[in-house]
This record gives sequence, C-alpha cells and structure tokens, in this order.
Amino acid sequence: MNMTRSFNRRNARTISNCAILAAALTATPIFASHRDPTPLRDARILIADSVPRIRVESTSTISIRNTDRKKLGELPPNTPTDLRPRNNATIEFNKQLQTPEDIRLESENHEPIRVSIYRRNEWQQLGLYAGSLRVVIINSNRLDVINHVDVEDYVAGVVAAEAWPTFHDQALRGQAIVSRSFAIYHMTRDPNAEIDLSATQGAQVYRGIRSDAVGRRVDEAVDFTRGVVLVYKDGDKDRLFCTYYSAACGGSSQPAAPFGSESDVPPLRGNVPCDYCEIAPGDNYRWGPIKMSLASIQQKLTARYNKAKKIGRITSIAVSSRTDAGRPLTLRFTGSNAETFDLLAEKVRHTLGPNKIKSTDFDVRIDGANVIFKNGKGFGHGLGLCQWGMQGQALKGKRAGDILRYYYPSARPVRVY
Ligand SMILES: [Zn+2]
Repeated sequence: MNMTRSFNRRNARTISNCAILAAALTATPIFASHRDPTPLRDARILIADSVPRIRVESTSTISIRNTDRKKLGELPPNTPTDLRPRNNATIEFNKQLQTPEDIRLESENHEPIRVSIYRRNEWQQLGLYAGSLRVVIINSNRLDVINHVDVEDYVAGVVAAEAWPTFHDQALRGQAIVSRSFAIYHMTRDPNAEIDLSATQGAQVYRGIRSDAVGRRVDEAVDFTRGVVLVYKDGDKDRLFCTYYSAACGGSSQPAAPFGSESDVPPLRGNVPCDYCEIAPGDNYRWGPIKMSLASIQQKLTARYNKAKKIGRITSIAVSSRTDAGRPLTLRFTGSNAETFDLLAEKVRHTLGPNKIKSTDFDVRIDGANVIFKNGKGFGHGLGLCQWGMQGQALKGKRAGDILRYYYPSARPVRVY
C-alpha cells in the first residue's frame, strides 16, 4: 500500500455501534462466500481499469444482467468468454451476444468467476473473484471491471496479497483487522460510491480468492477477527480512521498530518519507535547507498513540478525539516540561480522511484554528477503500522490487539458485527 492515492480523504467516519454502521451501508445480496453474510453492503473494488478486453469463466453458469437486474443472457460453465466494447455503446461477448454498456455478471451457483485482462498484447490472469462483477464501458472503447464483494471476502483477498506467507498467526490477524478497517473507512466515506477502492498499491492490493495453504491460514485469521475494526475516541464518539500501513518503518513511523489534515488524528501522529522490523528480509530494514545521476533527478523533478524548473540547475540537495523522531520530512533543492524549493521527501521518493528509494529515511548529498542516498532505513511510507514490526512483535509473543495498539496509539479494536 502506498499513500499517494489515499491521502486527501475526508475526515474519519463516526461509528458507535453496528447498527449505525449498518444503517450507513445498506446491505445488498451476497454471492459466493463461505462466510456468513456481512451486514454491510458489498465493497466495490476496481479490479480492471480501462482495459480493451476481458475474459471471464466460472465452473457454473454466469448470468448477464442489466442495471435493473433483468437477465439478458447467460454464459455456459467452464467456457472462457471474451468481452469487448463496440461503438461506445455495447459490450460484445465472443463476437456474438451484444449487451448495453453497463452490466452485471453473476455466477448462478455462487461460484467465483475467473477474470483475465488483455494488456500489452497478451492475456494476463487477474484472479478468481467471489461476489459479482460490474462491467462498464469507459473512455469510449475501454472496460472497467468492478468486483462487488462481501467485505470479509475482500479482506481475505487483501491479507493474502499484502501479508507475507511466513507471517505468524497473530500478524495475519493484525493485518486482517487493519485491512478491514481501511476498507470500511473508505466504504463509509461515500455510501453511494460506484467504487470504494482500487485493487492496486494505491489502496490495498487485492487479487481475489487464494485457496492454497496460505489462503487457508489467511481465512482463519479473517474469520477469527470477523467484524473487528480499529477506532479511536473523539470526544464521546468512536471514529474510524485511515489505517495506513507499510512494510518496514526502519526505526520510527512518520506523522500522517503533513499529508492531509484528515490524517491529523491521534493514532496517526507517528514517531512510534520500532526496531522489531530488523527481521525484515533483504534490504527492507537497511538499504543503500543508491547512486542516481543528478541529471536524471533534475529531469524527473522538472517533469512533475513547475517550481523545480524555476531554480535552474540543481546545485544542492539537503534535508530541510525532520519529524520529532528524526526522519527527514522535507528536502530543499537549491538551484544555480540561487532559488530554492522544498518538497515533501515522500513526494521526492515517488518521483524518483519508490522501489529504488525505498523510504524517506536517508542521508543525501551531491557527489559530482551523481546524488548519493545512503544510510537508508525501512521500506514504504512509514505511516501507521509497520508490518514487519508487527511480525517481529508476534514472534516475541505479542497478540494482535496489543500490537495494533502499539502502532496506532490511542486506537483500540472493536467488533462492529
Ligand atoms: Zn518498524
């Protein structure tokens, strides 16, 4: 998960009990779940974004319905079927059946539906999805696919994709609570939203059902924590908040407030010390040095930020502010015409490549034609929960609820259904 698309969200929603939550989110029919239906409407997850063609298949008959749920046709079981937009007005099935531009696909026996997308001249399998699929034409000749899915099934898919298979049971439970909280927070922002979340790193990675041994462990963690979300007390009200998490904080979390006023809530104030993530694999706990050419940095910054053009050739890069725990918060670029501009280090990181510059906790200096990033600590934005820290604490015998209270100060888990 990264925070670039999740910031600028509106403020935390209020929930005081299940009834209020359920009233805010009218329940709709549930499909293809082995779990008890959740008393919330389905989550609406964008699983394919502007693709030219999709392919669907299920072990049972798939019915095709219009927006009024009228049945328009059906697809036989175990038969891959290609869908493509035609003339900005119809969706064509295997060059035969044609339907309106906004349809629902539902497996009749509540079996999951396998979805593939055509991208870069080849078919790519997305995953196997519980619930139903909405397929809609956008941008005149592209398709969006939105999975309407029970929240608990969605959470299971997210935990399977976002947690590591080696995670301790308590860490999987913690991840389930955090991912459920993240989902319901976004679902309650706008109960009538057509899409609650994307299925990518911009929100939470989601690839549908996972039915292997890891998937079964994840299912146990999700079922064990069913309906549990994190809240904090705001006056006499319990409020949800955006439960950010990232792979490894490297030493301390960073405050979320600089990234959006709605994140200025007690559980996201940051500066939580953590070296439990030292067990993170590879260079996720400590990284660098990384060398990048000054010319490429200049080019990437000016391509994205107008104010970067005004300072001329970059002559100095320095940390201009830090969090209370010492993490760089903003960087200052000084140019050949003696002007400067400051940018959040997290934005610099995303401009230069978030997998190369793994975190914002680093030392930086210009060395001739290059820029050296060294003493790098952690992987990810460092907001909220440290996932490898959670695993480290679980291995030391801590329980999921206590771990989450540690990383989200003043928050507590409550069961809302
Ligand atoms: Zn950590």
